[in-house]
Amino acid sequence: MKDEEKIYDICIVGAGFSGLVLAIKLARAGLLVCLVELNRVVGRRILSTGNGRCNFTNSRMGKDYYYSESSLDFIGDTHESLRTFLREIGVIDKALDGYYYPFTNQAKTVRDSLEAEINSLGVTVLLDNRVTDISKGDVFTVTTNRDSIKSKYVCVASGGLSAATLGSSKIGYKMAQKYKMHVTKLAPSLVGVLSKDICLKELAGVRAIGNVTYRDHSCEGEIQFNKDGVSGYPVMCISRFIGFDELDKRLSDIKLDFTPYMSEEELTSEIRDRFSSNPRATVESALLGLCNEKILSIVISYSRIYGDTAVDKLDDEDIANLVYNFKYFSINVTGTKGFDSSQVTAGGVSLQDIDTNTMESKTCKDLFFTGEVLDVDGICGGYNLTWAYTSADIAANEILKRYKN
Ligand SMILES: Cc1cc2nc3c(=O)[nH]c(=O)nc-3n(C[C@H](O)[C@H](O)[C@H](O)COP(=O)(O)OP(=O)(O)OC[C@H]3O[C@@H](n4cnc5c(N)ncnc54)[C@H](O)[C@@H]3O)c2cc1C
Repeated sequence: MKDEEKIYDICIVGAGFSGLVLAIKLARAGLLVCLVELNRVVGRRILSTGNGRCNFTNSRMGKDYYYSESSLDFIGDTHESLRTFLREIGVIDKALDGYYYPFTNQAKTVRDSLEAEINSLGVTVLLDNRVTDISKGDVFTVTTNRDSIKSKYVCVASGGLSAATLGSSKIGYKMAQKYKMHVTKLAPSLVGVLSKDICLKELAGVRAIGNVTYRDHSCEGEIQFNKDGVSGYPVMCISRFIGFDELDKRLSDIKLDFTPYMSEEELTSEIRDRFSSNPRATVESALLGLCNEKILSIVISYSRIYGDTAVDKLDDEDIANLVYNFKYFSINVTGTKGFDSSQVTAGGVSLQDIDTNTMESKTCKDLFFTGEVLDVDGICGGYNLTWAYTSADIAANEILKRYKN
């Protein structure tokens, strides 16, 4: 229970991964910490991460895996530090091709271990409390729908707008604006994209390896075709750009390369070889194995060729059309599936207004911001939880330095 007269050393808005990490680091050093959370449990989002397995970090780290309008030169490699932190609270991990998960394969292990640690450290946790305002006098007053908390420092770790059912609000952006900080445009990222293209009727349910390109952004991996659009790792990775273009009403098509293992020239000569070695074969059987069978049918029909045509009836133009449709298959996108379906929010509180050595606001002393609320978003693969950790770690180091002084 909260003591009405108490002045906490720090009040943290949001008990997500970032807020929990910060609370633990500061409470371990003896600071009086109050964690305020709108959900009835802490770390609810963590349970949904990595399809319930929590892919919390990656051995390939650095600023190149992140996006922001500002410089990210300050982002280093914190994946070992995060592993050590989780190991200290009992989470044993395992790596699959550089992607780290708890050994139990259960995101619940991570959430429960964080919760056990804040409980054993005596952190005050106010659940079912929605922060509505942060004001500054001699100390801060954090107002919620039920309470008012006084503290010397405040950290806003309230996350983004994604997956609202797991707990989200605009409080971080509103408070940033209240203290004259800039909030960049916000778009859903790591999300499926929508399309009304007729080919999806036939391709719905297909999963196939390919390369997805949107403008000058490309990513390779398993593409999933649904009746209302496309998703899967490579689509998710480029989705932030579609999200921003949707806002600006300047959407472009995505291009799919169904034979990413071959260049255009190699594919042309592969097709020629197949056709000349078996001139009586139908085009469908001659091209079998180049990609998923259903995709192959679509590529052939989009090249204006019947699948049962004998290959000796095809000319150079037909081959060029086939190669084009294998390598640059176009899907007209109408937008993303939106914030509710997205894993992360691209954009946020501008790093121009944050001292990235400390995570403190440049316009309001002792007010810190960490995690997804900031204008930093990572690709799939543990990068967003690592950012939530990294920013909390930077803030914790600074607050501890000041506390010691
Ligand atoms: C389905 C899904 C799968 C994902 N998988 C992965 C993955 O495998 N790996 C990875 O790295 N990332 C993954 N992410 C992204 C990752 O979960 C987030 O980037 C990360 O959790 C952000 O941490 P955070 O602490 O900044 O914000 P959050 O985890 O969003 O925490 C913010 C907290 O603040 C609370 N809050 C908000 N407003 C208020 C308010 N007004 N008052 C009080 N409390 C408030 C929220 O309820 C929430 O608990 C996934 C996301 C989703 C949705």
